[in-house]
Amino acid sequence: MSCIFCRIIAGELPADVVFEDEHVIAFRDINPLAPVHVLVVPKQHYASLDELPSGDTSTAGHLLLSVIETAKRLDVAGGYKVVTNCGERAGQVVLHLHFHILAGKKFAP
Ligand code: 5GP
Ligand code: ZN
Repeated sequence: MSCIFCRIIAGELPADVVFEDEHVIAFRDINPLAPVHVLVVPKQHYASLDELPSGDTSTAGHLLLSVIETAKRLDVAGGYKVVTNCGERAGQVVLHLHFHILAGKKFAP
């Protein structure tokens, strides 16, 4: 398996997990860009947001709700930024869909 996030999900690589359920895992970014920097990742491999099946409102909704739940558990509700880089031209490096939760510093708009 070559996808680094699939390897984390499979337990082959370590990660600092802050939230997990049947469909989603959230772990701290290895190279944090803010005091709180966590990645919320579906356990099913989708390369990016563009690959989420259209009409799969259940997966899309669960992912978004997992972002909210993770922010609550991190105690940053009401003060965090959510980013997903969709495609290499947008700066996506790991080609497995993930949402960045960033908090704990002031961000430019
Ligand atoms: P992207 O640019 O693809 O949106 O962001 C990928 C993120 O994954 C980067 O912020 C990078 O630091 C993080 N990352 C890459 N490899 C690993 C890893 O093995 N473990 C963890 N925890 N984060 C990683
Ligand atoms: Zn993957």
